[in-house]
Amino acid sequence: TKRMPKPDKTRIITISNQKGGVGKTTTTVNLATAMARAGMNVLVVDMDPQGNASTALNIPHPQGTPSIYNVLIEDWDLKDVIYENPETDNLYVAPSTIDLAGAEIELVSLVAREQRLTRALKRYFEHREANAMPRIDYIFIDCPPSLGLLTVNAFVAANEVLIPIQTEYYALEGLSQLVKNIDMIQQHLNPNLHVSTILLTMYDSRTNLAVQVAEEVREFFPEQVLKSIIPRNVRISEAPSYQQSVLTYDPSSTGALSYREAAMEIAERGTKK
Ligand code: ADP
Ligand code: MG
Repeated sequence: TKRMPKPDKTRIITISNQKGGVGKTTTTVNLATAMARAGMNVLVVDMDPQGNASTALNIPHPQGTPSIYNVLIEDWDLKDVIYENPETDNLYVAPSTIDLAGAEIELVSLVAREQRLTRALKRYFEHREANAMPRIDYIFIDCPPSLGLLTVNAFVAANEVLIPIQTEYYALEGLSQLVKNIDMIQQHLNPNLHVSTILLTMYDSRTNLAVQVAEEVREFFPEQVLKSIIPRNVRISEAPSYQQSVLTYDPSSTGALSYREAAMEIAERGTKK
């Protein structure tokens, strides 16, 4: 098997789409696991109050667990809310709890409300450097299905946006709104931000519709769409109930294979705009 190249510097990738159920969390969990298994140091930041990424990565997160909530709202150090995934080495998680549901409102009155995550990451990088800890290669930030302050924090902290697109009817609906918001963040808060990657998910090649939607998305984003496509695969949807990524749950499934391919493609393409 091919070796995965390490990035020159930490790639911070926000997984975003204001629609729910399009595969954001599934993509976060499985790309992160694939990257870690290929030898990368990976951190997942769960910015969704639902905490599905935390659950899928087997990090218990009942209300009150030290979590990204404390970092965003109470200025805790990120290092104090980072947990190791029990199955995969070099895979770390800053979980969310349901406390985060109130954060959207609590953030409004805080100083530098859009930069809370950025500051926390900066401090965390300094901490790692001061303690001679190896660099983090990839940070994946899982976003809630909205464009509120939690998502804004993720956009401001990241350099890249990965948009998962479900190859179904209405797939492109709302996409121009998302892109407009990303442009706005880029102009006012984070000049580095760009949509680096589009991943087609839940693809069913037997339907004409899926094929058409995939073509349409490629026309719209010729540079960003990955060659790898994630098929609709029942093993992918079963894995979270075992608190596992599909790579652990069924490594030889087409779902696992496709996420490994997508991870390799992302690593090989680098950060290109
Ligand atoms: P989001 O985070 O955007 O809300 P999820 O990643 O939670 O979306 O996915 C929504 C649902 O679809 C989940 O039940 C998930 O297990 C399922 N799912 C995601 N990707 C696939 C896939 N490729 N094949 C089958 N089911 C999938
Ligand atoms: Mg989700």
